[in-house]
Amino acid sequence: MKFHYYMPTRLVASRECLKDHQALLGALGKKAFIMTGGTSAYKNGSLQDLIAALEAQGVAWHHFAGVKPNPSLQEVRQAAGEAKNWGADFIVAIGGGSPMDAAKAVAVLAAGEVTDQELLSQRKFARVLPLAVVPTTSGTGSEVTPYSILTNDEIQSKSFLNSEQVYPAVAFLDGRYTLDLPPAITCATVVDALSHAVEGFLAVRSIPPTRCLAREAMTLMGPLLATLAKREVLTLENRETLLYASTLAGMVIAQSGTTAVHAMGYSLTYFKGLDHGVANGRLLAQYLRFVAKERPGEVKEVLRALGIPNLEDLEEYLGRLVGRLEITPEEIRQFSGIAVKAGNIQNTHPRPSEEDLAEIYRTSSLL
Ligand code: NAP
Ligand code: FE
Repeated sequence: MKFHYYMPTRLVASRECLKDHQALLGALGKKAFIMTGGTSAYKNGSLQDLIAALEAQGVAWHHFAGVKPNPSLQEVRQAAGEAKNWGADFIVAIGGGSPMDAAKAVAVLAAGEVTDQELLSQRKFARVLPLAVVPTTSGTGSEVTPYSILTNDEIQSKSFLNSEQVYPAVAFLDGRYTLDLPPAITCATVVDALSHAVEGFLAVRSIPPTRCLAREAMTLMGPLLATLAKREVLTLENRETLLYASTLAGMVIAQSGTTAVHAMGYSLTYFKGLDHGVANGRLLAQYLRFVAKERPGEVKEVLRALGIPNLEDLEEYLGRLVGRLEITPEEIRQFSGIAVKAGNIQNTHPRPSEEDLAEIYRTSSLL
């Protein structure tokens, strides 16, 4: 057996964990730069809890609100300028993947002079500010990954910052903050997490510990996919399970990476404005059919872990959760050409050609 596993983020999970573990924030410095999205952090109580915890620790804070979904390089530069001018010691992000990913880039950019090219290609930086995060969607797993995914207009897709230095120092998992997630965002983000577990499980870079984490994440998520597909209301316990499962799925992609589904989904987000999880969900079933041609046993293992009898049933759930793909032949040509160049295609086994990707897009639109 041979593998390398590294995940340095301290995880605390409980109702009121920000209050109960506030000393972990105090240990990061005296000046916190808080980053949130538009309004959800005010509404779900996380921002008030964070501010109370910081103030109890004697930490001064400055709030940068309004990180937009799918943050761009320009946006994170602007936020980093503000963090630098204010003299932040550390960053705290509340929200989904967008504020957490933006905060990772800010942690690098506010700590030194780094060009866009260096940000996206270097693994090591002279200095990076410490980061704490409070995830409020059950999706990206960004709280436990070394990735920040940024919209890059130059390549009309997304680029990655990938550095062990941007793993959050600490992540606070409190499922109460996810209670009021609207159904559409709940479904989109759960499907993103599902896609992380499934892709990570089947990835070229999959390793024994991530297969184990992925299996557990799928086992926890499977029954709740059915609950969501039936449009039943989720309980707080269900929400906590989803948050935990999405964090496990994040630990999977932190080591094993994502594959063709993510590579192909980025164009659907960039050009067609689909939510990240929706984009993945509309491609996942056909990707599994593609993989099953060479690895039927492993695709069966995925279905077994999810507790879903066959691919048709999974497809049915996904259709109800994130809808069907609409795409023109011209878009298929363009998007396959972009996706085939993505790094995560090399992490896909069997390795799809540009024609294979076009076929996955095309057949996904026929479902
Ligand atoms: P998001 O883009 O962070 O947020 C989507 C929407 O959800 C926003 O409108 C946000 O509103 C709302 N929202 C967040 N928490 C809420 C809550 N508790 N209640 C109600 N509304 C809430 O969504 P996401 O899917 O979590 O993140 C997507 C981003 O993560 C993409 O850029 C994707 O590429 C990236 N990603 C990163 C990784 C990684 O490893 N780093 C992995 C996969 C994907 P507000 O603006 O009001 O907060
Ligand atoms: Fe994702």
